[in-house]
Amino acid sequence: MAAPEIPKEQWAQVVEAKGGPVVYKKIPVQTPGPDEVLVNVKYSGVCHTDLHAMMGDWPIAPKLPLVGGHEGAGVVVAKGSLVDDVQIGDHVGIKWLNGSCLACSFCMQADEPLCSHALLSGYTVDGSFQQYAIAKAAHVARIPKDVDLEAVSPVLCAGITVYKGLKESGARPGQWVAIVGAGGGLGSMAVQYAKAMGLHVIGIDSGEEKGESVKSLGATAYVDFTTSKDLVAEVKAATPDGLGPHAVLLLAVSEKPFQQATEYVRSRGTVICIGLPANAYLKAPVFDTVLRMITIKGSYVGNRQDTQEALDFFSRGLVKVPYKTVGLSKLQEVYDLMHQGKIVGRYVVDTSK
Ligand code: NAD
Ligand code: ZN
Ligand code: ZN
Repeated sequence: MAAPEIPKEQWAQVVEAKGGPVVYKKIPVQTPGPDEVLVNVKYSGVCHTDLHAMMGDWPIAPKLPLVGGHEGAGVVVAKGSLVDDVQIGDHVGIKWLNGSCLACSFCMQADEPLCSHALLSGYTVDGSFQQYAIAKAAHVARIPKDVDLEAVSPVLCAGITVYKGLKESGARPGQWVAIVGAGGGLGSMAVQYAKAMGLHVIGIDSGEEKGESVKSLGATAYVDFTTSKDLVAEVKAATPDGLGPHAVLLLAVSEKPFQQATEYVRSRGTVICIGLPANAYLKAPVFDTVLRMITIKGSYVGNRQDTQEALDFFSRGLVKVPYKTVGLSKLQEVYDLMHQGKIVGRYVVDTSK
């Protein structure tokens, strides 16, 4: 196969200052290092993390200027001299974990997201809101060639993250899980992964449109947190014995549900924290946590194996992301809608427009 032609310049969305906006401009195409690949990104999902990065919401500052994006699906167009298990022409995904050392005690036990040398796409290194992005070959997601790159892109963060969170919850088929933020990007995928894993789902979010979507994706019950008079009672009542869900996945970009979840989770249940609202704290009554034997855990993206498993659910047609596609040039408009909590499912950007 003839080597693909790689331009010297490309279109990208660049965060030039904390708080944004993103600037759509031409920037140089980089050359991959010995253990890296250059990916012609075709589509990239837009995660709320990208907005947190631009707004400087978190305790660790991102690089500046920054090209965000970490749900990039595309085609390998160049590779470094040490790369032999990824070929030019392969379809791959650029995910949040761009690279890790592969040698520390966390990497050795497949906990590479915990590696202190981890490189993060769209945060500590430039990500997928550009036409040509670089990633460590060891970490790119391997996407089968018959999989639609546009539809699969949100799996690369949202899918992997919620799939891992559900595994961390220990919930078993036949049990109940509450998905908080069920109408958003992670939430829409979580409802479907949970269903595919044999769980019953209670979706929590706001508005009728999100409610309809969440139910159509497979949730048994939907609770609107903006209109519910007693959210805790309603969530518990949605389970057949009234004792509450066995697990809770917290995906909301707001602190309040992090304080509420231990009130409605079933005794011996598990609360999984995934959403990362700015300056938020967890609070739970010690007495209840002890006497009801509640587990509270964090869950952070997934490792390479979780990635391939999450993609396998997609390949088998078990999860379908509700998404809308716009040109990369419209990224700021997506952020504006996201900030207002108006997005049902995910937005995907097409890097050719
Ligand atoms: P999103 O904006 O698409 O969805 C968030 C949803 O939460 C929205 O539908 C919103 O209406 C809903 N919500 C807000 N307040 C709520 C409340 N009180 N109760 C119930 N729902 C509420 O965002 P997203 O892209 O799905 O990301 C969600 C969060 O997950 C972000 O903070 C993101 O940074 C974080 N995240 C974490 C990881 C990880 O590895 N832990 C990975 C990816 C994203
Ligand atoms: Zn993400
Ligand atoms: Zn490491």
